[in-house]
Amino acid sequence: MEINLWQERALNATTEPVKCFCDPKTCDNIGWCLAAEQCYSAVVVESYGLVARAGCISVDSPLQCNTPASHNHAILCCNTVNLCNEFLEPELIGGNDIHFTNDDNQSNLTPIMMSIAIPAATCVLVALLLYLLFRFYKRHAWKAHKYEKAVSSGAGDTGTPPEKPLGNPLAVQYGGHQADTSLSPVTAGDSTLQDLLGHSYSSGSGSGLPFLVQRTVSRQINLIDRVGTGRYGEVWKGSWQGEMVAVKIFSSRDEQSWFRETEIYNTVLLRHENILGFVASDMISRNSWTQMWLITHYHENGSLYDFLNTNTVNRDVMLRFAQSIANGLVHLHVEITGTQGKPAIAHRDLKTRNILVKRNLSCCIGDLGLAVTHRRDTNHVDRGQNTKVGTKRYMAPEILDDRLNVDSFEEFKQADVYAMGLVFWEIARRCQCSTGRVVEYQPPFFDQVQSDPSFEEMRKVVCVSKVRPHVPHYWTNDRVLSQMGRLMTECWHESGSARLTSLRVKKSLQQIEPVCPEVKLKLDLI
Ligand code: ADP
Ligand code: MG
Repeated sequence: MEINLWQERALNATTEPVKCFCDPKTCDNIGWCLAAEQCYSAVVVESYGLVARAGCISVDSPLQCNTPASHNHAILCCNTVNLCNEFLEPELIGGNDIHFTNDDNQSNLTPIMMSIAIPAATCVLVALLLYLLFRFYKRHAWKAHKYEKAVSSGAGDTGTPPEKPLGNPLAVQYGGHQADTSLSPVTAGDSTLQDLLGHSYSSGSGSGLPFLVQRTVSRQINLIDRVGTGRYGEVWKGSWQGEMVAVKIFSSRDEQSWFRETEIYNTVLLRHENILGFVASDMISRNSWTQMWLITHYHENGSLYDFLNTNTVNRDVMLRFAQSIANGLVHLHVEITGTQGKPAIAHRDLKTRNILVKRNLSCCIGDLGLAVTHRRDTNHVDRGQNTKVGTKRYMAPEILDDRLNVDSFEEFKQADVYAMGLVFWEIARRCQCSTGRVVEYQPPFFDQVQSDPSFEEMRKVVCVSKVRPHVPHYWTNDRVLSQMGRLMTECWHESGSARLTSLRVKKSLQQIEPVCPEVKLKLDLI
């Protein structure tokens, strides 16, 4: 039997416990199981054909790792890396013709049952197809009708002016970045991806698509352009059936980070308008190397860092940015109890590069690779296996001087609020408010440290000299800026317990009156 490079790597066993690829039906719908010893991949000849199986070896597994291959079964085991068994290809003596299933009930199907089941399934499929075609036609016809009505109502029947396209009122200011937000018969809300995702939320499963759909989607993506680089590799703009998605590509070296981020995004009830929308996660094997993909919604305005570098904001947009970030952070921080509950999550790497600007000029929080979770009933802080820490420039004093108690989840949340205060400062500097003054974009502590500062440099500035970003005096002359200034100061307090909670920040922001409420209303509709 010829063994390829991946198989060779997979077969070099270690003693680390690993996660094994496993059919979701047999593994609680999650597609993997934790191996006590080994992951396996097997082929077995059943009465109805050849079947492939994968999962974790247990004492009562019908085939054990040392079972030699024969004409009717073959097994290979591994425990080197997570999902290592996905690429194992056991071969029967005499060759394979694989029909993949993990459904043990199938072994009881007799040829007679099959002859009934196949025509019945075909009928159901045809009926389903017809129904979907009907729905598709009906929806498009309805949207076209609505659009025509909206346009033609301007002809004067009712005497009211024509309904304007919901263009972005700030489109001139953000011309370079702004996408076309006008109403068209087939754009907004007409996404197949949205439909797929909609079905998966209502089914109450994790925050993404069902496992096998994730695989299908990811294998149909065309990569278009590289749009960003970060700690772990590259982020690409890709297209899936005409819709844009973002694909974060991790190298196999960073498998642990991919795994953790996938795990966090699969948290039940994580989905929120101010958290980057997760689509799918997959492991792609290309020639002899493996890439890990994490697919999310694509945001053409890019990160908040990119946005603030090239745009100024007015007071309403500043507030909108701040409110949406605080809303996203509250959603992460809150634990939702119940059987389908969500653990509390702390981000640990909040910064403008990890926040994306949506088309409607609200923000969503991304890059959840360093997040930690906590459930109150067990009081367990789950940090995953990722040992990498956050970004030094945004680290709270207690992290810099090593005082943070890693068993206290509260302290992780307090460190997030500190970082959010710095993000607010970066936004506020770019606000062209009533004072008419605005300064160029700068990251926090730009006047204290060089780019990529060391831990020690940051510690001296933040812990020893107790420096915080400068809140300029001219902010006090503006109603909104002065309140923002006070709020951020309360976020970056020296003592974590004296800082505001994310919920308090959210509530305080809600109390700041917007300058033009109608702008908010219009943006909300985009
Ligand atoms: P890393 O974990 O490597 O830091 P990030 O998830 O932070 O990766 O992404 C790196 C950069 O890629 C971001 O700062 C942003 O510029 C860009 N990016 C990430 N996700 C998206 C997205 N969904 N849409 C558009 N750009 C994105
Ligand atoms: Mg990042």
